[in-house]
Amino acid sequence: MSLAGNRTLDILSKAEKGKYGILAQSCYDSTMALGLVRAAERAKSPAILQLFPITVKALGGEFLRFCLDVAHNASVPIAVHLDHATDEEALEISVGLAERGIPFDSIMVDASHADTDEENIAIAKPWIARCHAAGVATEVELGRLEGGEAGLRVVTGTVFTDPKKAEAFMKETGADILAPCVGNRHGSYHFLGLKPENEWDMDLLQTLGDQFKGRIPTCAHGTDELPDSLFEDMIRRGVSKINVNSWCRDPYAEALSKGLASKPFPDAQEEAIEVMAKNCERFFKLFNSAGRA
Ligand SMILES: [Zn+2]
Repeated sequence: MSLAGNRTLDILSKAEKGKYGILAQSCYDSTMALGLVRAAERAKSPAILQLFPITVKALGGEFLRFCLDVAHNASVPIAVHLDHATDEEALEISVGLAERGIPFDSIMVDASHADTDEENIAIAKPWIARCHAAGVATEVELGRLEGGEAGLRVVTGTVFTDPKKAEAFMKETGADILAPCVGNRHGSYHFLGLKPENEWDMDLLQTLGDQFKGRIPTCAHGTDELPDSLFEDMIRRGVSKINVNSWCRDPYAEALSKGLASKPFPDAQEEAIEVMAKNCERFFKLFNSAGRA
């Protein structure tokens, strides 16, 4: 199947041309997803609704279908992306759903745990072919990010992306979106005594952005605790897909748990959705995507 008109690629290509970033927000349940969609509609911003395969596994294809319904029926363009499908089980569940009639828009086929680029390519390539046959765009990671997030396994051993290898890697895998490692990591930087602005190699990000400009969108992972200026800088250097998790998730979870302890269930839910929406809106403004849809 052709990827022409693929929702994720369309949203990212417009963002790159317009020099703004796209919030790709991890969602863990239906009310988080509703909060993201509400915020995108209110801010008139495109967005990407992201799910980890573990969430799809836990809540099933029906939940994926729900996310597709709310995203695709929104008044603004919103794509549904599955993030970090790392092992065979996660890939089989996810890709299997697309093949059986629940075609989400894109997926990260993450073989960055492989020891060599050749092994990464060998693992990713057949999955990417199956995704493309089902009309699903694919993201790959070249190099390796350290750390972990809720729902992701913890990885050690940072490997920076080598721009000299990137062209062949993208060509051989056939993938559509590049997630590079430029010193970014999943989870907390501060907990390890690190400052994100000292870890991210922005020149490398610029090199990759220039290299793939207009052809392959680049995606930033590991954005916990980043100062606003670093988000703005990465967009200037060509990043269009910006993965965000705990920035919006943690205030949502806190609002929901506190609300449920003292309020009727629907009131607590509504408050939590609104907290989620407010946090997403902050990113639409920061990424300059508000008003673009
Ligand atoms: Zn990630």
